[in-house]
Amino acid sequence: MTSSAAPAIPGHPFFAYRDGQLFAGDVSVAQLAAQYGTPLFVYSQAAMRHALDGYRRGFAGHQVKIHYAVKANSNLAILQFFAREGCGFDIVSLGELQRVLAAGARPEDVVFSGVGKTRHEMRVALTHGIGCFNVESVPELHVLNQVAGELGVQAPISLRVNPDVDPQTHPYISTGLKGNKFGISHQDAVATFALAASLPHLRVRGIDSHIGSQITTEAPFLDALDRLLDIVEQVEAAGIPIHHIDCGGGLGIHYSDQLPPATETLWQKMFAKAQARGFADRAFMVEPGRSLVGNAGICLTEVLYLKPGEEKNFCIVDAAMNDLPRPAMYEAFHAIVPVQQASEADATAAVVYDVVGPVCESGDWLGRDRALHVAPGDWLAVCSAGAYCMSMASQYNTRPKATEILVDGSTAHCIRQRDDFAALVAGEILL
Ligand SMILES: *Cc1c(COP(=O)(O)O)cnc(C)c1O
Repeated sequence: MTSSAAPAIPGHPFFAYRDGQLFAGDVSVAQLAAQYGTPLFVYSQAAMRHALDGYRRGFAGHQVKIHYAVKANSNLAILQFFAREGCGFDIVSLGELQRVLAAGARPEDVVFSGVGKTRHEMRVALTHGIGCFNVESVPELHVLNQVAGELGVQAPISLRVNPDVDPQTHPYISTGLKGNKFGISHQDAVATFALAASLPHLRVRGIDSHIGSQITTEAPFLDALDRLLDIVEQVEAAGIPIHHIDCGGGLGIHYSDQLPPATETLWQKMFAKAQARGFADRAFMVEPGRSLVGNAGICLTEVLYLKPGEEKNFCIVDAAMNDLPRPAMYEAFHAIVPVQQASEADATAAVVYDVVGPVCESGDWLGRDRALHVAPGDWLAVCSAGAYCMSMASQYNTRPKATEILVDGSTAHCIRQRDDFAALVAGEILL
């Protein structure tokens, strides 16, 4: 953060205005937009470190390993940053395994989640010697046992249990309720641990749960921990030791007026509970994604056209649902702010627009009913764009995936170049 009292974007202390111009660290984002073009993702390394430090302070005095959830933002340089900070990784595919290895991760620092791991993915992960498979079903246990047997190894496993806790978030990003495809049900957990312990090519290491994403209250995390500890007690009473307790990810970030609990406070409460129940000395793990990168990124976009309408005014920009899929997928809210602040007189002349992209879909909107004072050629910043934006981006409408920049103090590293035509058609074959 800079020492000046520059006004920051709410929830984004590392993106602030200096003399009316938006800065990331000590870098003017308008300069980046001019140099690299738009749409342009700009990430703040200081913001990611700040988010990590919140976890570290909350964990003080305890044994906790952070496994960054790669799917939130899987750019190689971002992964490299987390590897250098000593984090492990939570992956959900072979591609993500290859990414983290390419970024410098040690295989033993990788946990593999997901309901649909293939035999091939299991084989490659076992050959590399990853730290743990988070197994989500009984059939998966049997297949992993078989694949490990064929390789003559024992697979380290944890069982993902479904604590049946309502995280009170969007249904598409809620994963810990009964009617959900994820994990092993609470009632079946003990029997499934017994089965896992009986299979010769598996080694039971831990228990895990991940109840959803963008959770903005403490209660679901504390309730899920209680449920997990209940199961650990029963499983250990049955003679199966549990080495680690993995509490998953899911902590929310600031998008609009929702204020998630501070990471540090949440984890102090989690450990107070663990302490009260006699588990404070155990090895814990977490798998945060969004809360480490979400507020560390913005997406810069240029205003192309202003189109007044009878019912709505449209502000048409050059970023779209292929760059920022969350509004189209979950009707998610991203704050949209100007790169150059309007003067007070201009701000009172703001017009209410729907901010939309050029893609041929009515679902292609980035923000609804936003008061803006803009003209074609102006740049806007779409906020909270560090998580589940570029990692979900596509080339729909044959639009190139955007350039990405990582700002560290006054240095701007280009960490991804915009797709060129060769990248857009890579792998395609003419008749
Ligand atoms: C997506 C996911 C995470 C990360 O979730 P966030 O909400 O981004 O923190 C962690 N663990 C598992 C198993 C996941 O699927």
